[in-house]
Amino acid sequence: MRTPVIAGNWKMYKTVDQALDFMNALRERGEVSGVEQVVCASFVALPALAQATSGTGVGIGAQTMHWEEEGAYTGEVSPTMLQDIDVPYVIIGHSERRTYFAETDETVNKKTKSALDHDLTPIVCIGETLEEKEADRTQETVRDQVAKALDGRSSAEASRVILAYEPVWAIGTGKSATADDADEVIRFIRKTVADQLDHDVARDIRILYGGSVKPSNIDSFLERPDIDGALVGGASLDPNSFGQLVDAA
Ligand code: 13P
Repeated sequence: MRTPVIAGNWKMYKTVDQALDFMNALRERGEVSGVEQVVCASFVALPALAQATSGTGVGIGAQTMHWEEEGAYTGEVSPTMLQDIDVPYVIIGHSERRTYFAETDETVNKKTKSALDHDLTPIVCIGETLEEKEADRTQETVRDQVAKALDGRSSAEASRVILAYEPVWAIGTGKSATADDADEVIRFIRKTVADQLDHDVARDIRILYGGSVKPSNIDSFLERPDIDGALVGGASLDPNSFGQLVDAA
């Protein structure tokens, strides 16, 4: 049984106070069970959020990290630093990191390994660009990204990864993939995992859809048995909207 995940990616939004206001408002909506709720915030808000959500059903995540534990890497944050402040999730390889910050399949592989080595749950993002989609290269692209992200990982490790299929053309554009398209690609990703590792991992690994998910379209994705939840940008910034997404899962 795969527990559904609703993960918010706040990107470069929310000061510490705004982040805490969100958590207070979310808490007022009441407790939910049967869904893993995750909020991935900026580094500066993580300590306060981790404290504020301790013992609640909400898990906190970073939006990236370095793979080394420490070193001369100006501006970077390490997995041990995330562990130290009780932040158990980390997004890896988001398309914005790949596009603007030179994240590659190789760094995604190193970061995924490092996250798993430090008992963090990596939320690994994959997805094709519009150009790749139009050239009919969606499957080839995601197969390559999954293969490289999980290369060298054991079945036990890979089953702790959360994959997020985020077609780049659907991010922040208001243009989500259709549930049919997302379902088809996610089923293909599951098959890729089965081919690369084994059927047990393919059965256990959670695969989310991301890209313009909002309360009005989340049901269409969640009703597909292979889609285990969503990674949400814009619609995760408002506590009521995030709460509605969680309620739907
Ligand atoms: P939007 O939900 O704003 O399209 O962003 C998706 C995303 O990038 C989540 O990581």
